[in-house]
Amino acid sequence: CGITACIGQDDTVEPLLEGLERLEYRGYDSAGLAVKNGSSIELNKKVGEVSELVAAVESDPMSGSLGIGHTRWATHGGVTDENAHPHTDESGRIAVVHNGIIGNYQSLKKELESNGHVFASDTDTEVVPHLIEAELNTGATEEEAFRSAIARLSGTYAIAAIIGGDEAIYATRSGSPLCLGIGPGQYFLASDVPAFIEHTDQVVYLHDGDFVVVEPDGYEITDGAGRSVSREVQRVEWNA
Ligand code: GLU
Repeated sequence: CGITACIGQDDTVEPLLEGLERLEYRGYDSAGLAVKNGSSIELNKKVGEVSELVAAVESDPMSGSLGIGHTRWATHGGVTDENAHPHTDESGRIAVVHNGIIGNYQSLKKELESNGHVFASDTDTEVVPHLIEAELNTGATEEEAFRSAIARLSGTYAIAAIIGGDEAIYATRSGSPLCLGIGPGQYFLASDVPAFIEHTDQVVYLHDGDFVVVEPDGYEITDGAGRSVSREVQRVEWNA
């Protein structure tokens, strides 16, 4: 029910966890995060409060130059650690967080399973990392793979993903909120501004159908056809 993402010069674990705490008001049953550390993705996710995730990360530390976080309000699949986000593919080189509902996940899951993909959860969300993986396996670039995977979905979603060895976060929305925070030396993505207001008040509200690729030193917003779109950077006032 809440998304956070962060990329930039500093380690992202702390801002991701802080962001999740600040999105707690939205309600949730599980929480998790994934960060990219070198060429591997580190992940921790569990049922319960963000404070329990924070304690778990304290006792089993992680670090990464970019990452994604999630608080889940289960719609498809029970409240279990396996069903908590982020979701990954078999290779562990893709991690995805999602708010909303993927309406056509059953047919996509059937198709992916018949092509040999093995699912680790009962969620609608998990089709996304597997769709991305299938596209990468055909030789698509990370961005192409993300776009092609999203083009297969119907339903409502805000989605953020870490893909392969890329130093980037890929995100899009359709029917669920997502905004971009532009800080000094660090970029944020979140369902809502409080997640990153301590770091920046410069915000771009993404529109339905927008895609954004955020890299450590810049971002680009495009439409579904890949054409560049410009969105206003707004200064928000927020009494946190
Ligand atoms: N439909 C997804 C799930 O049940 C995402 C729910 C949410 O928005 O938190 O895991």
